[in-house]
Formats: sequence, structure tokens, C-alpha cells
Amino acid sequence: MTLKIPIYLDNHSTTKVDPKVVEAMLPYFSENYGNAASRQHEFGWKAEAAVENARKQIARLVGAENPEIVFTSGGTESINLALKGVAEAYASKRNHIITATTEHKAVLDTCARLEEHGFEITYLPVDTAGLISVADLKNAITNKTILVTIMLANNEIGTIAPIAEIGAVCRGAGIFFHADATQATGKIPVNVVEMNVDLMSFSAHKMYGPKGVGALYVRANRPKVNLTALIDGGGHERGMRSGTLNVPAIVGFGKAAALAQENMSMEAKRVAAFRDELESGIASQLDEVMVNGNQAHRLPNNSNMTFKGVNADRLILDMKDIAVSSGSACSSASPEPSHVLRAIGLSDEDVLSSIRFGLGRFTTAEEIDYTINRVVQTVKAAREKSLQLAHP
Ligand code: PLP
Repeated sequence: MTLKIPIYLDNHSTTKVDPKVVEAMLPYFSENYGNAASRQHEFGWKAEAAVENARKQIARLVGAENPEIVFTSGGTESINLALKGVAEAYASKRNHIITATTEHKAVLDTCARLEEHGFEITYLPVDTAGLISVADLKNAITNKTILVTIMLANNEIGTIAPIAEIGAVCRGAGIFFHADATQATGKIPVNVVEMNVDLMSFSAHKMYGPKGVGALYVRANRPKVNLTALIDGGGHERGMRSGTLNVPAIVGFGKAAALAQENMSMEAKRVAAFRDELESGIASQLDEVMVNGNQAHRLPNNSNMTFKGVNADRLILDMKDIAVSSGSACSSASPEPSHVLRAIGLSDEDVLSSIRFGLGRFTTAEEIDYTINRVVQTVKAAREKSLQLAHP
């Protein structure tokens, strides 16, 4: 296969829309363009049927009942709806939320907003692997705690949290549990029942679907979660998220979920093998390379590496033929040194020397070989240059 430059290794930021997803979406722009809320004619019925089919595909991927899936504009909105929606609905009874320092900005900034409105937030620390301690969680729970929110997989280091265990603690304490599964869904098995979650956030564009669509899982029974809507209007999505549904995007999301379900285990093995090859290929030729995070429980497509003494932003500029990211480009419109790498104990210098590689469905063996060579050469050149500058 001929190598196409630039190579895309930034799949945590977003993914290419799978051609099968594009194909599934197209008729909903041009032929079946009805409003899914139009109950009186065939255009509306077709759109509604397509939305319900997509809802079923997503529910099946995560082990939910169809009505428990609420469509939103993406992961950020789902998280806002989960956190603010629960906070407001139960504010008269409880006002305390527990989260972790390594969460995505969508969670941290939502918590900060709730703090401004009088809620108390506990930010649990993590260990060097990026995991909270369940004992810390238990200690943080008070009779005012209404919600715990912990991500299933981290967007920078890929660490997978023991969500079922955390969920069991919350269930035992009568506290709602939200998990941000934006990075994990479609890559590793997700089951809302086995994971003991009450709310879970998803985003289509992280799993080969279109941008601008996502979903929130809202448990309907044992316990039923009540949410105050963020967006009021025509009462769509059972009153939890008003606004005309984006039918083509929802159809694409459904198709992406079905494809993920079909291919997940094979794809995870293939992608993890490429990732391991990337890491060993680089580490065998370079000194002072560190792999960050939890190597035992990590997303198959994630690799976060520190190249000691080398500025990651400079490195990325010198390798324009490879799309990767430093810090947390996907989580913020104004990137700043990664709060996640800091939280797992990296020094500021090491944080600024770290790069995230995000492999994906379309990554090839040739791309991995090319990337290994390119990274090795570029890091060596950068280190030689800084040696010359230090000892002219
Ligand atoms: N949560 C995590 C872990 C993410 O990686 C992202 C991506 O930026 C989001 C939430 C936000 O998702 P979206 O881009 O769909 O709003």
C-alpha cells in the first residue's frame, strides 16, 4: 500500500468518518429529509424510524434499553446535561459532587460552574497510573453527596478506570454515578448494567461517526434518574433535550455503533499490536523515553510518551507529516500544559516533552514503521542540537 502523508495519529481528538457511515447518512440529507417529530406524514415517519433504529443500535452497543438513550450534540453537552441536570433536579436535597482531577474539561468546567452556583465539589487525586483510590472515594462521600462522575477512559493517557467497582460503591451509598465514556465507547466493551452506571456520556466523532452528535444514557429504573433539561422547547427526547433532531448525524452515529460492535474485538487487537510496535520500535532506538499512564489497563489505541529533554511542541512542528498532539488539544480550545500528566506526577519539564499518539481503525503497518523512524530521527536531531547549544 502506498503511504499517504500526512499520517493521522490523533484519533483521540477526532476520527475519520467511516465511509460506511457516510453512505448510511447520505439519503437523510437528500431524500428522507423529514423532521422526526412530524407525526402526520411519511417524511416524518421515515425520519422517526431512522432515529429509532439508531437509538436501538447505540443502546445495543452499551447494553441500555432504547428509551434510556437521549440524543445530544456530543460528549460535552451530554456531560453538561448529566451533571447540571442532576444537580438542579436534586438541589433541594443534596449539593455535593465527587469527581477526579484527571477528568476532561467538559466535566471539570461544568463542576466549576456548579461550584459558582453553591455546589460543593471534591476532586479526588489519582496515582501514577491515573486511577483514583476507591477508599478515597468512600471517604469523600457524605450525606450531601448526590453524584459521582468518573471517566471510563482517559483521553490523554488512555487509563481505563474500574468503573463497575466505583459504580457499586455509589449504588451502595444511594448516590448517582455518571461515567464519561466518550473515549472508550466503540473501542472497549461498555455495558451500563454491568458497570453500575446511572448516566453515561457518548460522542459519535470519537468512534468514526460524524461530529456534533452524541448521547446520554439516563437510567430509567432502579434507580430512575430525574434530570432538569438544559434546553427547553418542543419536549423532544422525552423532555430532556428539546430541539429538532439532527437525523443524518443520528443515523451516522447509529451506523458507527453497529460497526463498532461488529468489529470491536478484532480491531482492538490489531490497533493494540500496532501501538505496542510503535512503543517498542521507538524505545529500542532511543534512550530516555517513558510511556505514561497505566500500561495494564489502557485503551488499545492510546500511547502517551515523554521524550526527555525534548520540547514536544517543537518536535510536532518538526514532524508536520505526522498528526499527533501534545497536552490536551482535543479537550480545550486554548491548549495549556496537560493537567492529566501533572496529576499523575510528571514534572513540568516532562509534561512539555510528552506526545500523545492516537491510533485508529485506519492506521496501517506502513504508517507505524514510518512514524517510528521519523520520531527516532527527529528526537535524536533535537537532542544533538540542544547538546551543541549547551557546549558550542
Ligand atoms: N470527554 C472526553 C474524555 C473527551 O475526550 C472529549 C473530547 O474532546 C469530550 C468529553 C467532549 O466530547 P465532544 O467533542 O463530543 O463534545
